[in-house]
Amino acid sequence: MKQSPADKQAFQKMLPGVITAVGFLGDDDRSPERIIEEDGIFFDELGLDFDMVADTLEELQRRGEAGLGEPITVGELLVQSGDARGMLPCPWGDGFFHKNAVSVSPADVPLESCVEGEGMLIYSELSVHMLRVHHFCQGRGSPFRLEPALIKRLLF
Ligand SMILES: [Zn+2]
Repeated sequence: MKQSPADKQAFQKMLPGVITAVGFLGDDDRSPERIIEEDGIFFDELGLDFDMVADTLEELQRRGEAGLGEPITVGELLVQSGDARGMLPCPWGDGFFHKNAVSVSPADVPLESCVEGEGMLIYSELSVHMLRVHHFCQGRGSPFRLEPALIKRLLF
């Protein structure tokens, strides 16, 4: 896949210390376009749709806000919706998004035993935007990675 100039710029902004301290790529050694390509294949294989997943994540965030920062049970899930602190730009330069953190984990598993990125999804408004518009789930090892298999297991 040939990299467009817009993508090239966006990918540079995903490195640590540009938009966020840790960046968006975690310890993934794949290129961002490769991550997008492979996660697209996982989405297809799992029968997931980017818009549908983004809608569900936004809905969980809204319902989690009723907990006022404390974890609350939403169906079979435990959702914690933190406050927004400032805004973050999308690496693709198409908007600013709240710097919040929503965590979603199974309600029947103690919160302490959930490991980020394994049993628990953590996302922000920016993560949902990147998933919906750019089909970018972030690199493996990024605290905000939206792992397709975990999305499937927890949400669908
Ligand atoms: Zn964007």
